Amino acid sequence: MIHIVDWHPSIKMLSSAFFVGLAGLLSIASACDNCYGPLDSLQHSRLSRRMQPEALNATVAPTRPLEWGQLNFLHTTDTHGWLEGHLKEQNYGADWGDFVSFSKHLQQKADYLGVDLLLIDTGEQPCRLMKAIPAGLVPLLIHSTTGDLHDGNGLSDAETPDGVLSNPVFENIDYDILTIGNHELYLANVAYETFFNFSTVYGDKYITSNVQILNPTTQEFQYIGQQYRYFTTKHGLRIMALGVLYDFTGNTNVTKVIKAADLVKETWFTSAINYPQPIDLFLVTGHNPIRPTVGGSTFGVLYNAIRKMRPSVPIQAFGGHTHIRDFVVFDSMSTGLESGRYCETLGFLSMSGIKSSNSTSVMNPKGVPNPTTKAISMGASTATATASAGFPSSSANASSLVYSRRYLDWNRLTFAYHAAGSQDGTFDTSSGLEVTSDITAIRKELNLTALYGCAPETYCFSCKPFGTDGNIFSLLPTALNITVVNATRATTPRIIIINTGSIRFDLIQGPFTYDDSFIVSPFTDGFQYIPDVPYATASQVLGQLNSAPGDAKRSLQHSDFDFRSLAGDICPDGSLGIMSSENILKPRSMTRGLQRRQSATTLTPGYTTTDDFGKDGDDTPHSKIPSYPQPEYIESNGTFPTDGSTPEAVDLIFLDYFTKDVLSILTTLGGKYTMADVSYYLDPDSFTTQSYLPAYAKKFWQANVPNCPTGEGVTK
Ligand SMILES: [Zn+2]
Ligand SMILES: [Zn+2]
Repeated sequence: MIHIVDWHPSIKMLSSAFFVGLAGLLSIASACDNCYGPLDSLQHSRLSRRMQPEALNATVAPTRPLEWGQLNFLHTTDTHGWLEGHLKEQNYGADWGDFVSFSKHLQQKADYLGVDLLLIDTGEQPCRLMKAIPAGLVPLLIHSTTGDLHDGNGLSDAETPDGVLSNPVFENIDYDILTIGNHELYLANVAYETFFNFSTVYGDKYITSNVQILNPTTQEFQYIGQQYRYFTTKHGLRIMALGVLYDFTGNTNVTKVIKAADLVKETWFTSAINYPQPIDLFLVTGHNPIRPTVGGSTFGVLYNAIRKMRPSVPIQAFGGHTHIRDFVVFDSMSTGLESGRYCETLGFLSMSGIKSSNSTSVMNPKGVPNPTTKAISMGASTATATASAGFPSSSANASSLVYSRRYLDWNRLTFAYHAAGSQDGTFDTSSGLEVTSDITAIRKELNLTALYGCAPETYCFSCKPFGTDGNIFSLLPTALNITVVNATRATTPRIIIINTGSIRFDLIQGPFTYDDSFIVSPFTDGFQYIPDVPYATASQVLGQLNSAPGDAKRSLQHSDFDFRSLAGDICPDGSLGIMSSENILKPRSMTRGLQRRQSATTLTPGYTTTDDFGKDGDDTPHSKIPSYPQPEYIESNGTFPTDGSTPEAVDLIFLDYFTKDVLSILTTLGGKYTMADVSYYLDPDSFTTQSYLPAYAKKFWQANVPNCPTGEGVTK
């Protein structure tokens, strides 16, 4: 029985032995940095045995070593709790333990080369494991110090704070700078978990330059983390670091997000930029789209403010939130990197040429390639980079800085390739192995591996045209028709409408588990209905929903900003609200994919990135996965006359998320319906949008259970 006593940092204790074991992980992990033997680069076959037991390794390794410079960065963002890795996608099969080992290797390599390596994370950390916790496993959650601040539902409805379980796993990475994401701020209990626990683990490295929280003890707002961090690297570089969330407005009222335009006018900010001690580099991180011209990004505001005060100090930015791979040139000594999402991408950036009287770091470390590219935009996106951002086209030639950037696929083969040559022995470090086995334990404890069925093929989100085989929105009508049935109305014809925004991820061929049910359809919308609606009217609702102006926007917001939805799903995919519907498909289309037994020259499907440095940023080159537009709403017909005729009337069933829209459409169609006519078709306490795919899998995907083969993922 899991029993959360409190979430105050001093009592980060959970009564089950399992959780106590987790809490102890940190100390175990950090105590053993030198526990591996001599280097043996021929370890690759052995390497594939780690990761999670179900995970598959990639088949195509990178071929270009990383370019190491005077200052190097590893960057993660928007990991959203994918600490287990992607169990059915070979491109992204590594787990957090593999990353722990890899980061240790690169730190040792940096030491060996005599250069600095910094680890950065820009928000939306653990999450998904948390929300998979069945309510029964969390019988008690006491938060007396914060309960009166909960913004709405009160103690009895309190969610388990996001991150309690998975944060201790995440925290095994020795980050230098971390920032907060918007998803940490939707719910008071999650925000307080972040404040009391997560931020204290990282201390002065957790930077929330524009995010505050109401301290329940002092009743005053204070910064969740630090406003800035001034520090000196191992090799003497003096860095001023900031962490600025985009101008997010959907936060719980126990938190405050200060707009960037106001932030740069604050006295402390100007004091930090004009710090009395020397600054060799500004490190501007943020859960914030890295490209200033992308809607929502405030990097332009920050850049301009800093440049005005300090025209000659390099600025290095790291962003997130839009879930894409991107690299932006701001000026000849300022660039920015964004490193994808969901533990699919590990970003690497290196630079040389930072002028510092204090730095002992080697400019061009020997035995490895070095960065050689000046910060001049040369990608297809030039127009959106330096020019339209309105930045000074300063002195490109005057700067001595050179850069390189690389987007690493998150798999063991990639990690092992780049770790080879480090001063370590085998790839796995003791702390990495601990983390891997701990993730396995969590998954087992939460029953995430429980098998519902064996998906016979991959059903992708956008890689196939709507209506064709292999498109998930072609599968769903069948699944809905079979599973969304009220026994007392089973003989009444029905039309079931859902919004496609209720689906978050591809459904991949292979085992369909409890875990997958969260991955694919994470929200908990209930099925409501109006009985006996004339077919002539009901049959027009779908078309009206899909053509309603502003519809796409609202649909996208469903997965991001709707609080009711979030109350049942504390892990929003927060990136999409500020993206166009065209862009929303783009990152997805570029993700994932695999093929077995590829030769080194065969491209496997995956990310194909173009950024301000061109098209060579992807560490492993891939073929492009197509992307097709999908409708915002789809429908399913059940119990229709078998002779092909249309029924007189139907039960019109829809998700409670968009009931109001259905009512207003019915009104415009001449129907006279109000909320009084609406009731739940199925009990929302026992059947929601999280339920129908598991129900379908249990009935129809039993072939090859339990020995279910995993397919090739999203390939075309
Ligand atoms: Zn995110
Ligand atoms: Zn976000």
